[in-house]
Amino acid sequence: MSLLRQPLLMVSRSRRVKELVSTLPVSAGVVRSYVPGETTESAVAVAGDLVADGRWVTLDFLGEDTTDLEQAEATVAAYVELLRELAARGLGHRAEVSVKLSSVGQALPDSATGSGHKVALENARTICRAARNAGTTVTLDMEDHTTTDSTLAILRELRQDFPETGAVLQAALHRTEADCRALAYEGSRVRLCKGAYLEPEHVAFQSRLDVDKSYVRCLKVLLAGQGYPMIATHDPRMIEIAGAVAGRHGRHRGSYEFQMLYGVRPVEQQRLAAAGETVRVYIPYGTEWYGYLMRRLAERPANLSFFLKSLISKK
Ligand SMILES: Cc1cc2nc3c(=O)[nH]c(=O)nc-3n(C[C@H](O)[C@H](O)[C@H](O)COP(=O)(O)OP(=O)(O)OC[C@H]3O[C@@H](n4cnc5c(N)ncnc54)[C@H](O)[C@@H]3O)c2cc1C
Repeated sequence: MSLLRQPLLMVSRSRRVKELVSTLPVSAGVVRSYVPGETTESAVAVAGDLVADGRWVTLDFLGEDTTDLEQAEATVAAYVELLRELAARGLGHRAEVSVKLSSVGQALPDSATGSGHKVALENARTICRAARNAGTTVTLDMEDHTTTDSTLAILRELRQDFPETGAVLQAALHRTEADCRALAYEGSRVRLCKGAYLEPEHVAFQSRLDVDKSYVRCLKVLLAGQGYPMIATHDPRMIEIAGAVAGRHGRHRGSYEFQMLYGVRPVEQQRLAAAGETVRVYIPYGTEWYGYLMRRLAERPANLSFFLKSLISKK
């Protein structure tokens, strides 16, 4: 891993750093390069442009670790509004949504609600219902390892009524190859990513090489299985290996997809789409962009000087 990744992820947990960074306007170059806007309208407009350009999209209303019930409910309302807008603009066939369960109740203290897990399940159910009405699907983002069991349990419950609900697995975790085996069944949509969180040694691979090796093992399991793999990476080697393994298993284009983040390797996104691959772009939007931005900076410390300049000039 980059020498700066760990310190950056650690510093990002400081409340003072958060207060300082959050004073940046969303229009600041470095924020805007990863987060195209704050409103439903701006997100739907970007989604429309990408779809018109031949890509698919998944939209994320930013927010995480919500410890306030009303805020969790406001997030659900934002997703319902977004899904209504996507349907109204005829984008439901190519636009889905990604949801962090900690933004809809998973992180609520049990003392306040009975069970954060249950609140998140019911809220996610409401979003799944709205997605189905809009002709589309939901994928449950995966957060740090302390939430994996709860998130996969909620996934299992949701899939009883909404089997189209997508899961995310992180190659960085030791458990993930086994989770891939368990989820590689027919109709199961699984996004495989490397993992964006700072994780301890007892649960996660620590070196880039070990994470990459795990990613390839997981790719092989998913592509050999009966499910629908969603290959979320910008890494040229992983993309090449995924294409080769898909070919070896006789997978036709459209029986899996590539996914990348808004603002990252857009030329590669276009190249893959032009070659006939399904390419879905993850579009985050909203005012709660701090955690998302810090994870992106940790992945790409080369952006750091650019970011510090934005912070000083507040543009
Ligand atoms: C669609 C999608 C959804 C995701 N969902 C989750 C999730 O639910 N949970 C989770 O933990 N993680 C998620 N991630 C993040 C993921 O885990 C990685 O942290 C991130 O994708 C970087 O890993 P990489 O595979 O691109 O490989 P890396 O080895 O990190 O990067 C490969 C190359 O991609 C480019 N690149 C990578 N990141 C950036 C960046 N931030 N800015 C500019 N260039 C960059 C660089 O050229 C880099 O050399 C998601 C990623 C994608 C694409």
